Amino acid sequence: MGIKAALYVHLPFCRAKCPYCDFYSLPFSDLEKIPVKEFLEALKKEITLWQPRLKNHKFVTFYAGGGTPSLLPPSFFEELFSFLKANLYFIPEEATIEVNPEGLTFENLLGYRRVFNRISIGAQSFTKKGLKALGRRHLVSDIEKAVTLARKAGFSNLSLDMIYAWPGENLEDLEEELKLLVSFEPQHVSCYELTPEPETPLWELIQKNKIKLLPEEKIIKFFWFIHEFLEGKGFKHYEISNYARPGYQCKHNLFYWEAKPYLGLGPGAASFLEGKRFKNEENLKKYLEALGQGQFPPREIETLDAEARFREAVILGLRVLKGISLPEFKKHFGFDVLTYYGKTLKSLLAEGFLILENDRLRLSRKGILLSNFVFRELV
Ligand code: SF4
Repeated sequence: MGIKAALYVHLPFCRAKCPYCDFYSLPFSDLEKIPVKEFLEALKKEITLWQPRLKNHKFVTFYAGGGTPSLLPPSFFEELFSFLKANLYFIPEEATIEVNPEGLTFENLLGYRRVFNRISIGAQSFTKKGLKALGRRHLVSDIEKAVTLARKAGFSNLSLDMIYAWPGENLEDLEEELKLLVSFEPQHVSCYELTPEPETPLWELIQKNKIKLLPEEKIIKFFWFIHEFLEGKGFKHYEISNYARPGYQCKHNLFYWEAKPYLGLGPGAASFLEGKRFKNEENLKKYLEALGQGQFPPREIETLDAEARFREAVILGLRVLKGISLPEFKKHFGFDVLTYYGKTLKSLLAEGFLILENDRLRLSRKGILLSNFVFRELV
């Protein structure tokens, strides 16, 4: 049978860095300079090095993220897939490629469709004002074009990413965004609050008081406005930041939230296998050098004991709004959630952050909004 697992590949290439982004990627204003061949060879080598310890794993989802995977040609992914199929037990039911709306061609999308059956478009905003505030390089018309071409190329499973609470956004902007977003009829929507990550240009502008984030009350209002709007259009809010039409939850991301095994390839990628967490260093040069010499890239390895795995699984599992099953956790980890967290859990329940119902523990409306606080209490 094999242990079901997810496979992620990190492609750390972008045209330019967006001011809010702290994902590991490098800007390539000249796309010709992306080391496509060398990177593919390094990935193949990394797969080969992992291969002996993955004989029991069956990879059922694949996700190409970044960075901007759509800067790479379809042939890159076709060759990578063939290699994965030849070297691992790799039969993905869901294979997602992240793309940016600008610079997509029908020919490339057709090529991607030969390998991928799901596409995630990094639209981020559906208004000119929002795209400008976020420092994005594309236009609203690029999103429309990307959706049309992706559909034409055969992608029937399409996700759109959106960032809300950008500086200057008001409720009318948000409503306009959402109306346009649903008019594209995506199967899945990810909505993230704009968060200034330390050391990013956005963070620095905020430190210098050059940009103001929206007040907390407004952000809360936006969060529930999005929830009501999308639920009203037939999407189910299934994870703190994610909505899907029935049957279209992201299978790959569920592996992370359900603390199931995953392998991450590429610089900066993380893996969770056999109770160990691996994190490749975020350094393309060192990644290529190490694999060029037939060695694993520099990485951190952490072994989690049963208790640490349990605590992590609780926190990740609560991100999914249906919550966690207490009997299943007891069976799987040997810990009783209620006894283990004792007083802390009692007070989170009493203060209305969590709900216990039919042997399941889940975030309440208040808990969804203050999930970071809840997770800090349970960590
Ligand atoms: S395109 Fe995506 S990965 Fe690249 S810098 Fe912008 S947000 Fe980050």
